[in-house]
Amino acid sequence: MDRVIINEVGLRDGLQNQPRLLGTTDKLQLARALQVAGLHHLELTSFVSPRAVPQMVDADAFSQAMFAAGAPAQDYAALVPNLRGYERARQHPYRELSAVVASTDSFNRRNINKDLESALQGVLALIERAHVDGLRLRVHLSGAMGCPYDGPQPVRHILALSERLLGAGADELVISDTIGAGHPRLARALLLPLLESFPADRLGLHLHDTRGLALPIALAGLELGLRRFDASVGGLGGCPYAPGATGNVATESLVYLCEREGLHTGVDLEALQEGIVVAGQLTGQELGAPVFRWMRSRTQSCN
Ligand code: MG
Repeated sequence: MDRVIINEVGLRDGLQNQPRLLGTTDKLQLARALQVAGLHHLELTSFVSPRAVPQMVDADAFSQAMFAAGAPAQDYAALVPNLRGYERARQHPYRELSAVVASTDSFNRRNINKDLESALQGVLALIERAHVDGLRLRVHLSGAMGCPYDGPQPVRHILALSERLLGAGADELVISDTIGAGHPRLARALLLPLLESFPADRLGLHLHDTRGLALPIALAGLELGLRRFDASVGGLGGCPYAPGATGNVATESLVYLCEREGLHTGVDLEALQEGIVVAGQLTGQELGAPVFRWMRSRTQSCN
């Protein structure tokens, strides 16, 4: 059966701007619930400065605890903002790391105090370094469907950036709609030209549901043959540098959509309910997409 890879980013993107700080034990509990549901590709953390993102203060301790629990190293990924973060991540047996470059000068300046070209050079250096070390590197092009500061970007600009990153050997380019400004027509305009030059398994989508179009965009991606998606349990998340951005597309919604499309995700939706409940309890947020609420109401009425 045709298979979709869901990269669960709840522990990283989902948590990074949550006001309630989770301890390492809390994160382990959430990770365990996600794994029980069949989510094996987990982005665990981000090796950023804890001053910038306090929620990631335990990046080392949490990584260590997860690898100590004995999962295959290729199941876990972490975000590295720069070479220093990369060196920290290398202290753990990660086989895959993620890097980020934003689509505009303004967004890069807000994120890492560099202009677009310097940020891009930083990521190109990371790609080279990862390949020397035999690691897989995913590159998120954030603000690819709109910048929180400069608004919509020309399609040709996003395509030029994407082509440079893929051409330089990014194992996967993740078109990231960081603020949920995209729509299916824009997604097709970006993906179709890229698919003429690069195979679908080198492209991924990272969607936020700010305006409710994350699932329609995901469907457009599926129809074009994309099989790699980021998602966050219960729709947890936002972005500390992207005002107004709401959570990632909910993992349960994406799983339900894929299964209805006849695509296999390996995720057990029934079991995932526990992960959504745990994420909600730990963060104090009301989480869960419509399919979750439907499953809960059905369970309650049958008992
Ligand atoms: Mg995000």
